[in-house]
Amino acid sequence: MEKRAILFDMDGVLFDSMPGHARCWEEVCQDVGLDLTASEAYFHEGRTAKGTIDLLARRCWGREATTEEVERIYAAKCKLFNSLPPAPKMPGAEAVLYEAKRAGLIITLVTGSGQQSLLERLNQAYPNCFVRERMVTSDDVQHGKPNPEPYLMGLQKSGVTAEEALVVENAPLGVQAAVAAGIFTIAVNTGPLPEKALFDAGASLVFPSMQALAEAFAEIVSKK
Ligand code: MG
Repeated sequence: MEKRAILFDMDGVLFDSMPGHARCWEEVCQDVGLDLTASEAYFHEGRTAKGTIDLLARRCWGREATTEEVERIYAAKCKLFNSLPPAPKMPGAEAVLYEAKRAGLIITLVTGSGQQSLLERLNQAYPNCFVRERMVTSDDVQHGKPNPEPYLMGLQKSGVTAEEALVVENAPLGVQAAVAAGIFTIAVNTGPLPEKALFDAGASLVFPSMQALAEAFAEIVSKK
């Protein structure tokens, strides 16, 4: 089956933003008595903010968080994250996008993030790669990763079947979501987790970096 589209996760794939996100999650959660460390935050990557906060509230407070609490904690997290210097582009991401375009693949974004300035930021960093019609954000879905919904919607927006698509993900829950959607999933291990976490989640291939994926990309696409 020839591949026609490639679906990219954003944080930890296109931007080296996970260290900042993890640090901010740790700080705002500790402030409200939710026990989360930056290292644990990497395991929750891909969930919506509500998903993460509810899980921690059940664990630490013995109850779900209220809508007001979710909004307040997520607003504090976003404010803190936005006060940090902008996350750099992920080394190698530009080369992967270039190869994807050269192979004639449709390029789609599937992120659990809800940042308003996303498209602007993406266009600045990676001109002529992403369009609003082919972006799935936390605002578009009922269920975040690891639910397959974001990736199923990504397929729909790309106009392709699961067999015609590839996914690039860095987070175990993101890999689970893509695999549950039936898509061939390439993981890039750009964070501190063991490679095994990505294979266990169902990734077909795991690369240590986006640069390593870029080097192998032409061959992967020609074989698929
Ligand atoms: Mg990610």
